[in-house]
Amino acid sequence: MSEASISQLLTPLQIGNVRLKNRMVFTAHDTALQEKGMVTDAYIAYQVARTRGGAGLQILAAASIDENSATYEHQIQLFTDESIPGFRRMAEAVHAEGGVVFGQLLHSGRAATYSLDGSAPVTYSSSNLMSERHHIVPRAMSLADIKSVIRSYAAAAKRVQFAGLDGVEICGSHGYLPAQFLTQGVNNRTDEYGGSAENRFRFILEVCEAIRHAVGIGYVVGIRLSAADLDNVGLDADDALDMMRRLEKAALVDYYHLVVGGASTKSGTIHVVPPMALAAGYVTPFGEKAKKVLKAPVIVTGRFNTPQVAELAVRRGAADAVGMTRAMICDPLVAKKIQERRLDDIRACIGCDQACIGHMQRGYSVSCIQYPESGRETSLAIYPPAALRKRVLVAGGGPAGMKAAVVAAARGHDVILCEAGGQLGGQANLAAKIPGRSEFGGIVTNLSREVQLAGIEVRMRTRVTRNLLESMAVDALVIATGGKPAAFDPTRFEGMTTIVAADVLSGAVKAGQRVVVADSMCDWVGIGVSLQLASEGHEVTLAITGVQPGEMVPLYVRDEAAGRLFDAGVRVVNYARLYGADEDNVYFEHIMAMKPLVLEGIDTLVLCDGARADRTLETEVAGLNIETYLAGDCLTPRTAEEAVLEGLKVGRRI
Ligand code: SF4
Repeated sequence: MSEASISQLLTPLQIGNVRLKNRMVFTAHDTALQEKGMVTDAYIAYQVARTRGGAGLQILAAASIDENSATYEHQIQLFTDESIPGFRRMAEAVHAEGGVVFGQLLHSGRAATYSLDGSAPVTYSSSNLMSERHHIVPRAMSLADIKSVIRSYAAAAKRVQFAGLDGVEICGSHGYLPAQFLTQGVNNRTDEYGGSAENRFRFILEVCEAIRHAVGIGYVVGIRLSAADLDNVGLDADDALDMMRRLEKAALVDYYHLVVGGASTKSGTIHVVPPMALAAGYVTPFGEKAKKVLKAPVIVTGRFNTPQVAELAVRRGAADAVGMTRAMICDPLVAKKIQERRLDDIRACIGCDQACIGHMQRGYSVSCIQYPESGRETSLAIYPPAALRKRVLVAGGGPAGMKAAVVAAARGHDVILCEAGGQLGGQANLAAKIPGRSEFGGIVTNLSREVQLAGIEVRMRTRVTRNLLESMAVDALVIATGGKPAAFDPTRFEGMTTIVAADVLSGAVKAGQRVVVADSMCDWVGIGVSLQLASEGHEVTLAITGVQPGEMVPLYVRDEAAGRLFDAGVRVVNYARLYGADEDNVYFEHIMAMKPLVLEGIDTLVLCDGARADRTLETEVAGLNIETYLAGDCLTPRTAEEAVLEGLKVGRRI
């Protein structure tokens, strides 16, 4: 789709009394930028960066409407008036930049997992049915509990309005409390809130009525719903459409916000923040169906990572507006760049889940592996101009080197980037060869474009050496030469064809028929090599030192891959520490039992033992009187996230 054809996304949209300048929405998501449930300056700066970037609508993170509904420590709160000043400062800051901002109300029901002291909280739900994902048995709400929670929804909505936000959205999606009433398999009540569709709908209807009564006619109220939980046990698509019809008939809300997935099962949860293995814009068909029964505007969210995919959804009549949340985490200026017809300059989200939801799930603030400035708007996103213009040589054209070069150039330095190979991107190019992870190559495309836009001189097939450095009269050197595959002692594996994962992925070496993949990293490499070999017809056993394959990668990526490993017939052996091999056996020790574990009848062993820092240049230049910095895997091998972040930090320090 050409730049000129992105037109529908840029048109205004009326939602109730509020006019959006375009149809690109920064939807509600947790950021951990809040403190003790309150809005902070960092959170305001994060949102304002997206307002400045042209977002048509911003919806703040799901806020707990009572003390029983938090899913994590920093969850923003709306159950006391204490939260109002923070929300007001947020509204004023977004409005000052011309933006539109809504709040979102959440009661997570049996998905509430947080307590102040680490003890398991008492959770509430429509029934006492266990959440498979959280292994939590909730307390079935009494009629008094239901009335009390409905009052809390209304009070929270009133606080949003009083704080000056432009609207309020009820989070009824992803298996949270409203969906726990709507969903047949979760609601086994026998009173007026359970049983028939009409009864299961009653809770959400009364929530909408109470909120409408609290905020009055004219104030924007919307609702987020799952168009299907996609897990075989939660809300199915027909039931969801039925609930939408009932909502439409009630005419209490001004817009609908459709997603897919449910938070009660692992298979449903991957759709909350879908990883790259799921196709961009895959929620579009659900929007098409919903639009046939809904008259009010519909926002559709689900991996709309590029303007082209989002535009298509609007053109097909599947959405009136599109959630582009990670697209704006990765590039806050997406909307502005579309307006300015600079589509090639957009840093597209690759759906890796690593630093956005991945950070959140490990208790850290939101960021992005490609744009670590994200979530760090008050610190790293500001590049101080260089006090003195220097001639900077960057050795290594991987993610760390490219980012360091771009940031140093933006600060005014004269930068030369040297890459020993014939292609920029380093290890990211290899990562993109893994089945289901080709989009990872986007990080290379995006950073290469930034290098080009910065006007940086790039010298390919140029290995930086001490001699080269001495001949170039540079003021500063950035070593970003990456890592090299870990070496292994072949005498441990005599008689067995033994190869490293990188050689399988690059196609340099062919494996035999019966393969053991020995994975001591538990990252995406072991999974990827196993999937690739299985797809080529090999019999594959993946033996890992950890509990489950990919335990070091983000939750949803790992869980999604578990399904593909099963489908591909890959046998998984866990707690397996590699010892050695002979002609047809591979010897492990079960780490916990501390007993031998032998895999017999094997003809190829693939080692996933990660990389080791390439310290060649660091050693060579030692003693030279030159300002030197290290970034990325040459410090110690980690992921692309650390490489880009360190490139940013080095670029800011020179
Ligand atoms: S960390 Fe990955 S998934 Fe998250 S916004 Fe960045 S590129 Fe997208």
